[in-house]
Amino acid sequence: MKSNDLIAKVIVDVPTLGELDYKVPEDMLVALGDRVLVTLGRRRVVGIVVNLVRGSEIAENRLRSVTAVLNDIPPLPGEWLRLTRFAAGYYQRSWGEAALSALPLFLKRAPGKRQAAVMERMRKPLESGGRPVEVPELNDEQKTVLDALNRAEHFETFLLFGVTGSGKTEVYLRWMEETLRRKEDGQILFLVPEINLTPQSVSRIRSRFPEKTVAVLHSELSDGERARNWLAVHEGRADILVGTRTAVFASFKHLALVIVDEEHDGSYKAGDGLRFSARDLAVWRGKANDVPVLLGSATPSLESWMKASAGQYRLLTMAHRASGRAVLPEVTLTDPPEKGSRRSLTDFTVSAMTKVLEAGRQVLVFINRRGYAQVLSCPSCNWVSSCRHCSTFTVFHKSDRSLVCHHCGWRSKVPEACPVCGNVDILPRGSGTERIFEELEIRFPGKRVLRIDRDSVSRKHEAEEAFAKVHAGEVDILVGTQMIAKGHDFRNVGLVVILNADAQLLSPATRAREMLFATLMQVAGRAGRHGEAGRVVIQTRFATDPFFEALAKQDYRLFADALLDVRRENFLVPFTHQALLTAQAPTLAQSLRFLEDAAEAGHALEGDAVRIYDPVPMNIVRLKELERAQLLVECDDRPALNRFLRAWQSTFRVPAGVQWTLEVDPAEV
Ligand code: ADP
Ligand code: ZN
Ligand code: ZN
Repeated sequence: MKSNDLIAKVIVDVPTLGELDYKVPEDMLVALGDRVLVTLGRRRVVGIVVNLVRGSEIAENRLRSVTAVLNDIPPLPGEWLRLTRFAAGYYQRSWGEAALSALPLFLKRAPGKRQAAVMERMRKPLESGGRPVEVPELNDEQKTVLDALNRAEHFETFLLFGVTGSGKTEVYLRWMEETLRRKEDGQILFLVPEINLTPQSVSRIRSRFPEKTVAVLHSELSDGERARNWLAVHEGRADILVGTRTAVFASFKHLALVIVDEEHDGSYKAGDGLRFSARDLAVWRGKANDVPVLLGSATPSLESWMKASAGQYRLLTMAHRASGRAVLPEVTLTDPPEKGSRRSLTDFTVSAMTKVLEAGRQVLVFINRRGYAQVLSCPSCNWVSSCRHCSTFTVFHKSDRSLVCHHCGWRSKVPEACPVCGNVDILPRGSGTERIFEELEIRFPGKRVLRIDRDSVSRKHEAEEAFAKVHAGEVDILVGTQMIAKGHDFRNVGLVVILNADAQLLSPATRAREMLFATLMQVAGRAGRHGEAGRVVIQTRFATDPFFEALAKQDYRLFADALLDVRRENFLVPFTHQALLTAQAPTLAQSLRFLEDAAEAGHALEGDAVRIYDPVPMNIVRLKELERAQLLVECDDRPALNRFLRAWQSTFRVPAGVQWTLEVDPAEV
């Protein structure tokens, strides 16, 4: 029998559950977006009220009541509820999972006895202020861009395509300033890639807005700090939120503007759980709040570039460097040393370095591999060091004489002799940051060389200290991985040397080229940012590849347009939409079997719209003792793909030992 009780539809953090019905007791006041305490089986959990209706399909005697309303914070706003529902639908997870995983820990727990004291701590004012900074006069390009931005009053997505050092950040700051001036209670969402790599962004914003409250959200905050910052945004006490990808799920009282810096950056895509793209959700939020969105990059993602080319996004361009006489560096391509040579730097590279160092400027050496050497190998029997748990090589780290798997972290001691033939002359092959560091110290005696990678600076403050040394001029040569590429506004780097880019160029992954192009443009962009011209030397065997031709000209447009043509002709992303089903199991056969069954079930479901490919073993088949395979599906029509994925998942029969994940818009295929 259908009752006429007031029913709260509640979502909880369980992947398989949808909206659950709970009766609202007569004397209880519940609002949409309230957190509530409910019983689930025998557990007591925190859920969120997403709807209030009269009557339930559930029999009266089986219907439970809401235990308590947790009104310690204002209810989650409607736009936030729609956001999490959209994300759940798009990325194929449950609404409850998407919503609850976006909340700080303390809001997901049943309140304890000392809740009032906890809440008081949570509402302590955030750090603010900063050293006042000089504000540069805008140049003409910046002015034109800012004018266009200031005219936008409603939703519109802008793609700010500005070369490295063109002063994009300055434009962001001006636009934020103007927006906060116009909308007194407005709030700004400013997304940045991994925050420990861009320590300057937060302090730069605090200094520019000493009167405003700036909240931060990123993975290195403690639970308490995260809660405090989250709450300040939710309650409208923070004017600006600077954060990494998870910040896109913050709850705002009055969102007025959205900015995504370095919008192409891979870190905007979540790698586990709800595999969302923060950039795409940021655009969604702009639309939902009818406010403008700005995506900025020197090397936009192909998705955004395509949309800008199609007129869906408005393209704004800054083609010149902002600071004084700073021009883009000159790029030279040169052959790497002969194979089998023990050196990584050619004479040409060394002499280019010497010249710059003699002029009192710094050199930055980029190599995208940490450790000493790619592998240890035995020249007499061809043994190579490999991981016990994965189908990968182990990297030789000389400092602690260990062999490390960069995929699972497995570590072993360097053997005294070849474990297969007993040869004692086992040799390192290929180079990483440690080995380059060693070579630099030998080649440039008396010069101060510093290495920055995840091994040398594993903590945030260590990285900051290391970069501070570079900025203070206490370093002549800086060698490092990706970590040295991002965002740093080095003042005195005269030369950037790029080593070993060829390995990634040869990768079969669809997006390898665009990712490499973005990285190398960014690294190259560290040279000559202020005044004196800079130079870039790239050691490559593929100087005539169009990739390096475009890179040498630092012409992203040339690169992207050519790549888009190829993608369009071949119906590849971003001209189609993809989802990737991945399976892992103790044996590859089990993984493949599961995917084959899934493919078959998919064929039975599909209209013509969805293309289902054959299951294939993954590039690295074995990872942490599990063997993996993947199955790609494509569809030119987004809603059709979405419907298919929903229906498809419910057909999966999952044998014991098999785990699967489904990723929409996969980053790496
Ligand atoms: P981007 O974010 O495009 O890489 P930044 O905003 O970091 O560039 O600017 C690069 C450098 O140029 C910074 O040191 C910045 O202070 C400086 N700069 C920005 N705009 C101007 C300007 N209009 N005049 C002089 N210097 C500027
Ligand atoms: Zn051997
Ligand atoms: Zn491993």
